[in-house]
Amino acid sequence: MNKKSETSVTVIGLGLMGQALAGAFLTAGHPTTVWNRTAAKADRLVARGARLAPTVADAVKAGELTVVCVTDYDAVRELLGAGDVELGGAMVVNLTSGDSAQARETARWAERRGARYLDGAIMAIPSGIGTSEAVILHSGPQSDFEAYESTLGALGTVSHLGADHGLASLYDVAGLAMMWSVLNAWLQGTAMLRTAGVDAATYAPFARQIAVGVAEWLPGYAEQIDRGSFPAEVAALETEARAMDHLIEESEALGVNAELPRLIKAMAERAIAAGHGGEQYPVLIEEFGRPRGA
Ligand code: NAP
Repeated sequence: MNKKSETSVTVIGLGLMGQALAGAFLTAGHPTTVWNRTAAKADRLVARGARLAPTVADAVKAGELTVVCVTDYDAVRELLGAGDVELGGAMVVNLTSGDSAQARETARWAERRGARYLDGAIMAIPSGIGTSEAVILHSGPQSDFEAYESTLGALGTVSHLGADHGLASLYDVAGLAMMWSVLNAWLQGTAMLRTAGVDAATYAPFARQIAVGVAEWLPGYAEQIDRGSFPAEVAALETEARAMDHLIEESEALGVNAELPRLIKAMAERAIAAGHGGEQYPVLIEEFGRPRGA
């Protein structure tokens, strides 16, 4: 069933990402139907063999699998909720970005209309789509993912995270937290070093080495978090807090921004005040796991 390249697919939404998705399905040989509000964005895909559907209803009918990738979930509901769209029996994979609550609500909404629904998150840029570099996460019923895994595989490295439709969005935003935190930490160091005439390109390889080294600690620290026990095997939080003071003082003395160093210290201080100074850094999960002041 759903042998690769024989499954007909529909792509709704041909922005930068949707065009890349439809292009990858065409490259893999899938009969591909497309629809976009601004029809002209389909021109290049049509020249490559895609069929442009006149309406969303027609597009959903045409594909065994319908992939939706538009700006936000409101647009998804507006398009798929139009009176003439027959979702009964459709298999919808929504690769639009959003939050986990929207994903779960939209799943319930689509399932009430008789559709099978997977929610997804694209951890890639359009030029990476169709290569193994493009990581695309899915959540929802495992059997639906397995039925279309090889078809979706035309888009990149696809995986299934679990039955909870909110998981793909949750992993997506968790990944954003990682990305911006690493970048902000690098920018902080770069701003400091530039005051001494060290340019960003000189610091970047050193910073990269630290980021990779720290990433190696994650599995061991994750075990501590999952066990709920944080023995100071490497360093106690209060030792780290003293180094945080150096970071704040140095930033202030150099005249660079000290907001990020102060935030790092403030969270550690709260954990120390709660009695965790002798434990190891991941004990801060307790600070991250609740709203400030709770
Ligand atoms: P985009 O280039 O701005 O395209 C947005 C698409 O949504 C267009 O096809 C647009 O139609 C359509 N759209 C928006 N509102 C609509 C409405 N009310 N009714 C009908 N169509 C509507 O954005 P994109 O880069 O393709 O991103 C699409 C989704 O992929 C977003 O959720 C984004 O977060 C996610 N994503 C993008 C990237 C990336 O690098 N680009 C990476 C990961 C995830 P028109 O063409 O008619 O305006």
